[in-house]
Amino acid sequence: MTKAKKPKFGGLIPLYKFSLNPYPDQRFSSCPFCAHKTGQRKLPLFIHIDPEYPIALNYTCRYCKQCDLLIAHKHEIEHLLTTTFKQLNPDAIGNDYLIIGTVEKKAWRENIQNPKEPTEMLSQIHDFKMAHAEIRMTRPGWYGPDQEPPVRKPPQSSEWVK
Ligand SMILES: [Zn+2]
Repeated sequence: MTKAKKPKFGGLIPLYKFSLNPYPDQRFSSCPFCAHKTGQRKLPLFIHIDPEYPIALNYTCRYCKQCDLLIAHKHEIEHLLTTTFKQLNPDAIGNDYLIIGTVEKKAWRENIQNPKEPTEMLSQIHDFKMAHAEIRMTRPGWYGPDQEPPVRKPPQSSEWVK
């Protein structure tokens, strides 16, 4: 099977792996992939909202140094997006979105004082090195050797909806 090469979006070198946590009660103070303790990292995330609303959201992710992995909590991201788009463009609330990468901090700060064209901002974006699909957890419990533990279904979005 041939795998299509992921098109690069931002102009800077890719940084970080990224995962979205859809479980509001999971804080991931330890990494779901390697079990090391996670720290925090505050970064402007670059998010593309369909059809054409790019936005930079300053957000504190969980960060696993061992995996070089950022984890964002989906319900928090959607809460911030909803608050922001109530002002900017309420019609976009509930549209599909994709978290693409991080914005270079210096450029992000300058852009607040002196907003630039979106095309100019693209040169200041680091794509993620790798974006995992949303994290899925299995239900805790005892299972026999031939049993697959069932996946815990994450709750539906409550705010970022049409
Ligand atoms: Zn890890």
